[in-house]
Amino acid sequence: MIYFAPMTTKKIGILGGGQLGRMLLQAAANYPVDTFVMENDLACPAAHLCHHFTKGDITNFNDVYNFGKGLDAITIEIENVNEDALEILQQEGVKIYPTPAALKIIKNKMLQKQFYKDHQIPTSDFIITQSVAELNQHTAYLPAVHKLAMGGYDGRGVQVIKTASDLDKGFDAPSVLEKLVPIKKEISVIIAVNDKGVHAMYPAVDMVFDQRLNLLEYQLSPADLPEKLLWKIEAIATKLVKHLNSAGIFAVELFIDKEDNVLVNETAPRVHNSGHHTIEGNYSSQFDMLWRVMLGYPLGCAEAILPAAIVNLLGAEGHTGEACYEGLSEILKLDNVFVHIYGKKQTKPGRKMGHVTILSKEKQELIHQANRIKNTVKVVAVVESAVNIG
Ligand code: ADP
Repeated sequence: MIYFAPMTTKKIGILGGGQLGRMLLQAAANYPVDTFVMENDLACPAAHLCHHFTKGDITNFNDVYNFGKGLDAITIEIENVNEDALEILQQEGVKIYPTPAALKIIKNKMLQKQFYKDHQIPTSDFIITQSVAELNQHTAYLPAVHKLAMGGYDGRGVQVIKTASDLDKGFDAPSVLEKLVPIKKEISVIIAVNDKGVHAMYPAVDMVFDQRLNLLEYQLSPADLPEKLLWKIEAIATKLVKHLNSAGIFAVELFIDKEDNVLVNETAPRVHNSGHHTIEGNYSSQFDMLWRVMLGYPLGCAEAILPAAIVNLLGAEGHTGEACYEGLSEILKLDNVFVHIYGKKQTKPGRKMGHVTILSKEKQELIHQANRIKNTVKVVAVVESAVNIG
């Protein structure tokens, strides 16, 4: 006889209320789950989609502890949370995705790199520096990339140090100095792990950069790579999550260098920008998958329904103020193009304001549409009588 466990409503909390929390909550609507969000900003993207909102500081021990006690499980949408409180909550029986132990390793780039080294997970060579004075002693290590151990994100906290004349760009705080990788491609792969250690992996994604501006142009899924490299990526990501020993969703960012070596750049222990296309492009999205993990349901199917591209909608240079989306109505007319606006009231240069997903069987069509969308939509600040959807 097959026994079906009753689907009880679990109480699950999200630390952070940005766009990742918002999309996670959109997927939660399909399941019997009572959702809780904590974030300092009452007007954050996730605030009005959850059942219970708590205004609080996700880096503060008491705030996190008080938010979490009484919940069945907690996840994060940003690494910068108080993991000491999560550790206590875990001891008291709250399930934490990812585990505080895994979070502790990932949150600190020094510990993260050491973790890769200890487990023979390929990554670029590195040394640790505590100050600019120490950095200055390592001219023989250049060209390299200097990364703040804690608190950097989206490229902030990362400085390329090509020659000794760049040393003054370095950080006067605990940091990692990594050998500069001659990058051919940047790849991301998302992997979900449930409480029993069973995993599901999404097809790898190509992150295509504008070399001149060093800005992410668009992302393509599946990545255009020879099968041999895809197998390598799969083996590395699987080994990495096995050693992290935590359930949850993990995005592993990798470099393919000019000699086709595969090196792990970094891992995010949460849903990730490089997986947004899975909402429309894959049978079970990264957000759906995380609910399945946290609710103890069977994992979903990570396979692609169709190849996809994503374009991030970033706040335009020179525009700060109430957000307005130029050119949206033009792209809303396109077939197989899906617009996601994150509901942030204020735009500023480079701020992630939304994304657009494109589905097509043809890679050329994906690239063509991605470029068209990039050139059509602009997130600017409202001026006088401008309307919200242009
Ligand atoms: P963040 O965590 O802020 O996103 P990353 O560690 O991913 O920072 O670095 C940002 C970008 O800097 C990468 O996407 C890559 O283009 C470049 N980069 C990082 N590390 C290296 C490296 N060792 N060699 C060459 N380029 C690198």
